[in-house]
Amino acid sequence: TAAEQTVSAKLNKSANAFAEAKCYIPGGVNSPVRSFRGVGGTPPFIARAAGNRLFDIDGNEYIDYVLSWGPMILGHSHPEVNRALLAAVERGVSYGAPTLLETELAKLVNRLVPSMELVRMVNSGTEATMSALRLARAYTKRNKIVKFVGCYHGHHDSLLVKAGSGVATFGLPDSPGVPDSIASTTITVAFNHFEQLQEVFARQGEDIAAVIIEPVPGNMGMVLPQPGYLQQVRELTARYGALLIFDEVMSGFRVALGGAQALFNIQPDLTCLGKVIGGGLPVGAYGGRREIMEQISPAGPVYQAGTLSGNPLAMTAGITTLRIIAEDPDFYPTLANKTESLTTGIRDQAEKAGFNLQCHHLGAMFGLFFSDQPVIDYDSAKLSDSTAFNIFFHSMLEQGIYLAPSQFEAGFMSAAHSEADIQQTIAASAKAFAKLAD
Ligand code: PLP
Repeated sequence: TAAEQTVSAKLNKSANAFAEAKCYIPGGVNSPVRSFRGVGGTPPFIARAAGNRLFDIDGNEYIDYVLSWGPMILGHSHPEVNRALLAAVERGVSYGAPTLLETELAKLVNRLVPSMELVRMVNSGTEATMSALRLARAYTKRNKIVKFVGCYHGHHDSLLVKAGSGVATFGLPDSPGVPDSIASTTITVAFNHFEQLQEVFARQGEDIAAVIIEPVPGNMGMVLPQPGYLQQVRELTARYGALLIFDEVMSGFRVALGGAQALFNIQPDLTCLGKVIGGGLPVGAYGGRREIMEQISPAGPVYQAGTLSGNPLAMTAGITTLRIIAEDPDFYPTLANKTESLTTGIRDQAEKAGFNLQCHHLGAMFGLFFSDQPVIDYDSAKLSDSTAFNIFFHSMLEQGIYLAPSQFEAGFMSAAHSEADIQQTIAASAKAFAKLAD
């Protein structure tokens, strides 16, 4: 197949492009994990993408399980999304004034995620969580925030504390430049250890404005919540009058159409969205209980704004994507089956080659850890063998399979991946494990 033909292809042009990019852009990239620093080597520079494939500037082709870090659930360059976008461009790309599109997307979000009674559009997941925290602090008139070690909610000061994703990949301590006075308002506890959260609330529950959680964490690799855990968190926060913020930037429209809150039947006070909601354009959103959201300016006193928020192109890509995924009742079951067959296939190949792999999947999201221990939190995720992962990763890349360049990132399935792609990926994994066994 085409992807197999790329086995021996080189990354010469990408290496040159990377060197030049470093002259003008810090580290050569506009988001750290793209640099491949965790796994070493040259990141392929991408020329174009279609369906489940990425094509780099050296002419290599890859089956893509990163999908722009989650958004491209329909696959790249989806014809209907492209048509809608091209038509939107003809009408002008930004007005800074209200449009029908914004209400349409807000209505769609409210229909699919009913806990989001009012929705405010922003431009990234980071903006969504930053704004949700400000709102929670204003609404409760409290200052402290609780987050979970290894959960990543974007790069603003309050939440760049014991964060996952690139911070975990590079083994960084909390970022320089975050004032102690801000970091000290963020309390961190381990995910899946309810007793730690209980202790924190017993000591300072009256000062806690909100608990922010990735209900299905994907930034310490993918980790599943223990049965009943999210319910316990919901009950505890309600008891103390702290808001529960579900950060579904990754899990939203990904683990299920209605996100993790639909799957686990939990009503958070506020929800943050990103990635899929923008269909590949820069969009985030936050929303929740009407009474809380009415505090946002201009309805209320809590300020939050954006020159490009609700941008017509971004709204168009989001609306078209959400309509397509919502209209087919088989969309998520099919994606979930494909994700399961991929992870089961890879795990079987690992076992045959004598490796222990912890494979997690839910809906169209998955994670692989080179570990013989169950992975339930950041500490157990860190026990996995990153040297083994790096060898595996590079072998897969050489075989035309594009995985996230870190064990501390989730993988994603799209509607554009076929059964043949999945079988090709599993076959490639067999070769990668054989290489690892050498
Ligand atoms: N929250 C979660 C759960 C995420 O996974 C991410 C990004 O990966 C963010 C927030 C930040 O979103 P963005 O990168 O769009 O700012």
